[in-house]
Amino acid sequence: MVDHVPANMNDTVLRCAGIERSFGGLKALKGVSLDVHRGEIFGLVGPNGSGKTTMVNVVTGFYPPNAGSVTLFGENITRLAPHAVARRGVARTFQNLALFRGMSVLDNIMLGRHVHTRPSALASLFYWVWALREELANRKIVEEIIEFMQLQDIRDEPVEVIPMGLQKRVELARALAAEPRFLILDEPMAGMNQEEKEYIARFILDAREERDVTILIIEHHMDVVTAICDRIVVLSYGEIIAEGRPHEAIADPAVVAAYLGQRAAARHLVGATS
Ligand code: ADP
Ligand code: MG
Repeated sequence: MVDHVPANMNDTVLRCAGIERSFGGLKALKGVSLDVHRGEIFGLVGPNGSGKTTMVNVVTGFYPPNAGSVTLFGENITRLAPHAVARRGVARTFQNLALFRGMSVLDNIMLGRHVHTRPSALASLFYWVWALREELANRKIVEEIIEFMQLQDIRDEPVEVIPMGLQKRVELARALAAEPRFLILDEPMAGMNQEEKEYIARFILDAREERDVTILIIEHHMDVVTAICDRIVVLSYGEIIAEGRPHEAIADPAVVAAYLGQRAAARHLVGATS
């Protein structure tokens, strides 16, 4: 199912070493190193613009780093394209929703299965036999995920008519449909109310327990971070300013100062534009 299971697989799922990435003159990541261990829920935290999404884009092959290396399950994947990273068992959700409008909830989740379609099969004389079997197997997994994520009632709705909170849940379901070994979530609770946040937190914890998936989550709700993360890294201006257990790391004076700085800057902006 997953292409590469390295012989020396130990408990390190992801190792990033000295990651640097610039955009023009802006250094978005200035040498970030971190390890994620098997079975962890690992939090990537930090004020807006600190480099969290860029880090995930480097790991998943969307942006090649200017320096540093990315190792996944013991394999160097630093320059691999996104689809190649996905085939190694990585699924992600995006900070801005990336669902297909006009398609149903069910069909959007089915798209999560496409990472497993083998190009060689398309060339096969017996493609249609294979395709039918594959389709049935995919359906079964998708039905399972729909039940797991409690999306039965809206499975046939076009995604654009359902509320934002549920759309985020569909996106998480699509990522789980790929049956990832490593799941990366970029602000999965953005724009959600307390009840919706608790639902998603529960799904994330259950996914780890029941589906043997390691999770990296970008999150700025500190209550969520302390409730579900085993370890976190806090970024500020592209550098790690604290790491460790969540309640200890977020109490670090450098972290408090970084968040206060952001609030002060926001007040300043509001003041300047009003
Ligand atoms: P975060 O996810 O922590 O809010 P990002 O990783 O999105 O932060 O952004 C880090 C910095 O890099 C920001 O200053 C942002 O404007 C810049 N940046 C991110 N992506 C791009 C891009 N594609 N082009 C130019 N600048 C970018
Ligand atoms: Mg971001």
